[in-house]
Amino acid sequence: MFGNAFQIAKVRGIPIRMHITLLIALPFFGYKFAEVFSAHPLTWGMLAAITLFISVALHELGHSFVAIAKGFPVRDITLWPIGGIASLARIPERPRDEFWVAIAGPLVSLTLAGALYALSASGVFPEQSDAESFCDALSMINISLFVFNLLPAFPMDGGRILRAALAQRKGRLAATRIAARCGKICALLFAIVGIWGLPGLIPPSIMLVVIAFFIFFSARAEYRQVMMQEMSNQPPPIFQWLWSNARRPPQQPPPAEPADNEVVVSPPPWQRKGSTRTEATPLDEP
Ligand SMILES: [Zn+2]
Repeated sequence: MFGNAFQIAKVRGIPIRMHITLLIALPFFGYKFAEVFSAHPLTWGMLAAITLFISVALHELGHSFVAIAKGFPVRDITLWPIGGIASLARIPERPRDEFWVAIAGPLVSLTLAGALYALSASGVFPEQSDAESFCDALSMINISLFVFNLLPAFPMDGGRILRAALAQRKGRLAATRIAARCGKICALLFAIVGIWGLPGLIPPSIMLVVIAFFIFFSARAEYRQVMMQEMSNQPPPIFQWLWSNARRPPQQPPPAEPADNEVVVSPPPWQRKGSTRTEATPLDEP
């Protein structure tokens, strides 16, 4: 599934890859965005679609840079039509590390939204111009990325922040169980909203249904992964008992003390085939 992606850039050693499905989806995004613009709508639409995925890549780079600073290597970033995924060589286990890695992405999106809004409000572009509409649209999209990613839909950013908060008191496994349950409930709600929409707020969206599937199965998979990790770190009582018995060395009778008239000697070099117990001639009494 991850094989159909090709590298489009490399930032500080992190390959940024684009999944083939995004290449197919980009014109659709461009066509959708074109509605916002008056002159050359398709050109502006495509530019907005490409900028959206640059924003997503910057969001993922936010996660990646903090992860690297905390000592977690990043394999790559893959951009999908439903968003981006930064693949870490291993997930931070310390709640504090997980919190900072998770919050970094949404903070990048918030900063981008603020910068684009400031550019639009600065008066650099004529009012009602396409350039202003472009900045407004991308600012809104980055705000949406910020809010949506902070929903407690584990394993999305908000869900990871929730797990980090819970793990401090409940331990990693229980925290993951609660966060994964929360993630699955969010996924079901996303699926419902995706199919029927929210009247007056959110139109039905097949994309939201796909995201819901992704969250539901990822939450389950990551909970199982943590459960396996915890089991390998600390076996449950019955396994622990079997394991400790298996590890106990077999009971051997203590070696017999040599009799008074026996001495253990090393065999001469021409007889060395292992230690041999040789009966020595008792010494003559004076
Ligand atoms: Zn994120």
